[in-house]
Amino acid sequence: MDLPAPFLRRMQSLLGDEYPAYLACCEEPHFRGIRLNTLKCTEETLLASFPFPLERTPFSPLSFYYPPEGGKIGAHPLHHAGAFYSQEPSASSAVTALAPQPGERVLDLCAAPGGKSTQIAALLGGEGLLWSNEVVRSRANILLSNLERMGVRNAVVSSCRPETLCPALEGFFDRVLVDAPCSGEGMFRRDGQAAAEWSEEHVRSCAVRQRAILDDAARALRPGGTLVYSTCTFSPEENEETIAAFLSRHEDFSLGETGLSGGRPGFFGMTAARRIFPMDGGEGHFVALLRKQGEALPPAFAEPAAVPPAVSAAAREILGEVFRNPERDPALAPAGDLVLLAPRELPELRGLGVLRAGVPLCEKKGKRYEPCHGLFMASRPEELRLCLSLQLDSPALAAFLRGEEIDAPGDWKGWCGVAAGSVVTGFGKCSGGRLKNRYPKGLRSF
Ligand code: SAM
Repeated sequence: MDLPAPFLRRMQSLLGDEYPAYLACCEEPHFRGIRLNTLKCTEETLLASFPFPLERTPFSPLSFYYPPEGGKIGAHPLHHAGAFYSQEPSASSAVTALAPQPGERVLDLCAAPGGKSTQIAALLGGEGLLWSNEVVRSRANILLSNLERMGVRNAVVSSCRPETLCPALEGFFDRVLVDAPCSGEGMFRRDGQAAAEWSEEHVRSCAVRQRAILDDAARALRPGGTLVYSTCTFSPEENEETIAAFLSRHEDFSLGETGLSGGRPGFFGMTAARRIFPMDGGEGHFVALLRKQGEALPPAFAEPAAVPPAVSAAAREILGEVFRNPERDPALAPAGDLVLLAPRELPELRGLGVLRAGVPLCEKKGKRYEPCHGLFMASRPEELRLCLSLQLDSPALAAFLRGEEIDAPGDWKGWCGVAAGSVVTGFGKCSGGRLKNRYPKGLRSF
């Protein structure tokens, strides 16, 4: 593999005696990983769904190596269903260090395409709030669709500059993740183009940008809260030096232990931080944990938006048609033709580039409302009045994912979830022994 000579000189000076081991890794295939989505699937189901064994990685209990013969894992029906996320193994370490707890408010400031956000969502278990922000609008749309696929109910997705978002949400979050844009040296084994674009100047400009993002992130964190900084690069300027510069500017922060066992201690005396190299079983990550001192003030929540009674009635009717035990007092929010099932206790959202807060429950189609794909994706089969469970290798499931009408039990009538095995992957409408397909056109496989 061709790597730029100045980059290799820097790696030699960084790694010393271990440099030959790094070079040897560069001739080996890169690591592949998937991460279980506990919102939708159990470990037992995931492990039983592949014709090869999955081996747990040292970076998260939810992260597994899968072998190259696994092929295109993104085409697997359980991937469409959101049972797992394809994620380079060491990338799961940052959220392991962040350790979000159910009920907390968590900000993922640089979130697209959503690997770490969907991991945070799984650890929150549907309780609390995940705010996923991505400054690049087109990438924020991909983030939104990944959160929907993974069945995340309690998320706000925004596309906002950190210098606007963080002061507006000052002290609101219990935990903040900054998975910073970086020079991506840990991607080189997977992506030769990233290596070709590497330059010393890019490393320096990334470091400047990272310092600015971290300063903003610090404002959004409540006193007593936890900030995790991560990159997928090796350069000290973007890792230990960025953290040291941050600590010198923010006396109210201190460096904490990440709690990670995989990888190795940070360099240059910053042993509480963690570094992962290909020799450690991952492509490359740096993770540092920072604690903000002081006493938190109670967060400010906004008044929920008023929902017109007719809209609220229509949304409740849909909930009654879809669920066995519909929520009695759902938090609803109108959004154009959509009605959202919104997270409770939101801050003021205006002016923050919010694309969505919650999951789309139903959409106005002509004079009627119909349920949305996102509502089903965020549901388990046993919660639904009707759910057709199809075997992973069945022609019926393949036909459903292509957007075709399929057979259904003759006496089923109404909105019906469709599950890949035990994981809901979409829905349709049953009548007369057939299921009319509502799988979104943009997701269909051909
Ligand atoms: N956390 C993501 C995941 O796990 O899927 C990966 C995030 S990637 C390393 C960094 C992200 O930061 C990119 O999506 C990039 O668009 C975004 N970004 C670029 N410039 C930024 C800036 N100035 N402020 C905040 N985010 C920025």
